[in-house]
Amino acid sequence: MEKSILIVGAGFSGAVLAHELSTRLHNKRKIVVWDERNHVAGNCHTQRDPDTGVMIHEYGPHIFHTSNKKVWDYVNSFVPFEPFVNRVKAVFQGQIYSMPINLHTINQFFGKTFNPKEAADWIGKQADTSITEPKSFEEQAIRFLGKSIYKAFFYGYTKKQWGCEPTELPASILKRLPVRFNYNDNYYNDVYQGIPRDGYTAIIEKMFRHDNIKLELGKKYIRSEEDYRYEHIFFSGPIDQFFGYKHGRLSYRTVTFERHETEGDFQGNPVINYCDEDVPYTRIHEHKHFTPWETHEKTVFFKEFSKETTETDIPYYPKRLSGDMEILQKYEEEKKSLENISFLGRLATYRYLDMHQVIEEALEVADSYISQHN
Ligand code: UDP
Repeated sequence: MEKSILIVGAGFSGAVLAHELSTRLHNKRKIVVWDERNHVAGNCHTQRDPDTGVMIHEYGPHIFHTSNKKVWDYVNSFVPFEPFVNRVKAVFQGQIYSMPINLHTINQFFGKTFNPKEAADWIGKQADTSITEPKSFEEQAIRFLGKSIYKAFFYGYTKKQWGCEPTELPASILKRLPVRFNYNDNYYNDVYQGIPRDGYTAIIEKMFRHDNIKLELGKKYIRSEEDYRYEHIFFSGPIDQFFGYKHGRLSYRTVTFERHETEGDFQGNPVINYCDEDVPYTRIHEHKHFTPWETHEKTVFFKEFSKETTETDIPYYPKRLSGDMEILQKYEEEKKSLENISFLGRLATYRYLDMHQVIEEALEVADSYISQHN
């Protein structure tokens, strides 16, 4: 009987795996890929807007960044990437500021003309150094930036985005953002950054293009006795869903978008964050600025709202509150008794992963499987 492998999920995890297994396993297997949505690329899915021609990041902005040369070369081997540097602005109380926090933000906010050392000394005086080991998002912010910067740029935005007090969130969420005492306003610290010229869906479609890969969209995986027919199952869907939510649901934030269309240039930048708590949305993204190499007369922009994920919503951000981590632990225990099944990606491991991390891990999973099964 021909051996086949089932991959659940057609996002980056599933696509990298399918590509590697189909091209590198000596005894060719049939690779079956299922995704419950009707398109590939998961939350990275991009599509041209029929009305304006703008390439839309359907599930919100995705900017590819990594310091891993192998991952950068890998994605570039499928489609060309255009250079892109994410420069975000933030609005607070009617003023516009540079983001992430850098020398310009500090000078704008305090009305100063500090040089780097003066700014570092000033922020050092605001910082609460009595917090030796910051345990929460709030403690991390106050420890390194002080209360006034925290209240202006992080408190309201974070409460809106995560739907809870920043005291409940882990410090790791804030550590994603750089703080700089120079005028570098690049949102990321990574060595490589860019956006695929024809969108992310184009990369993923190319990864799936192989005679041994059978892609089935609109097909939801439910554990069944038929699973034994597969040599192996790679699951990249939500881990709690895999186990039928028997230990409870893991909490996620989801986002919704309010679409607007106009002529010309709406905001002059791809992303502007709204940090005031009383502005209901977290940010506005104008997608034609993600393809500065293209020209469009019209423009599309989205106001982004954040809310708790219900059963019918698409999960985005794993909240990882202490109750979630207890539930996760139970699923992790159950995983240990399963044979011939691997869990990978953001939803199956319940971690806040970026695209480059997902790709790096999927390549590792593929290498390990291929070395054991070739
Ligand atoms: N954040 C904030 N204000 C901002 C930008 C970010 O408070 O203007 C916080 C927010 O809690 C967010 C975290 O910093 O979840 C990390 O930001 P990042 O841009 O990595 O979040 P993402 O774009 O992945 O949602």
